[in-house]
Amino acid sequence: MTKLCSVPVISVLLVVLLLPLVNSECGYQSCNPTKPDRLNVHIVPHTHDDVGWLKTVDQYFYGANNSIQHAGVQYIIDSVVAELDKDPKRRFIYVEMAFFERWWREQDNNTRAKVKSYVDAGRLEFINGGWSMNDEACTHYNSIIDQMTLGHRFLKDTFGKCGIPKIAWHIDPFGHSREQASLFAQMGFDAFYFARISHNNRQLRRINKTMEMIWNGDPSQGGKASLMTGALYKHYDPPPAFCFDQNCNDSPIQVHLQFHIIVMHLIHLTCCKSLA
Ligand SMILES: [Zn+2]
Repeated sequence: MTKLCSVPVISVLLVVLLLPLVNSECGYQSCNPTKPDRLNVHIVPHTHDDVGWLKTVDQYFYGANNSIQHAGVQYIIDSVVAELDKDPKRRFIYVEMAFFERWWREQDNNTRAKVKSYVDAGRLEFINGGWSMNDEACTHYNSIIDQMTLGHRFLKDTFGKCGIPKIAWHIDPFGHSREQASLFAQMGFDAFYFARISHNNRQLRRINKTMEMIWNGDPSQGGKASLMTGALYKHYDPPPAFCFDQNCNDSPIQVHLQFHIIVMHLIHLTCCKSLA
């Protein structure tokens, strides 16, 4: 009797013990492993897909009218999924739900299951996650809340906890309002990153090492509106020597992994022999 009863008790205990492990796969702990004695830099590709700018939203999604601007968002997401397939160490960040939700509706169950597994493993991460990346200069706060709610509701309903963005990301809106920082803090974001600030301000912040700061969006809220905030180093472009996309001339990074492993092994042997 004791034995029979202990089985479900042990099972329940195992489930309880394993639950945090299962839930903890996405989020910050899903980053590739770091080395504690080094400065660890994670370079993660991300999107900035305008929900209508030079072309209409539909032209952007399907890749039409490419003589105006070469852009087809459905192909971006298709190719991201194909590349995530190839290597479990790969990561990607997607931002604009107006496009992702449309792409998701067009996928079969197999692709959806695969993409969900990437989200659960923290390999495909959503940041910002609004329907679009809203303007800050002339937008009413009701509209900001509504469009963020629309995107986040889709993510929560589709992917659960692992789909909820932790980082606010305004890589292209012009000028940044204090109220936007306050709203993002109150929406529960851990941090807010943006690109556009005045050239003088960026230069000064680089010199003073104040590119990152705590932005108190509304002192009357007693800290609830404070948010870790960072300005990007070079507008929304990559740092020097990392620009190898279609608009750039830097050579691609070419690494033959096996060759480097052999070389490192030889260096290690030489080093150990000379020490001995
Ligand atoms: Zn833009």
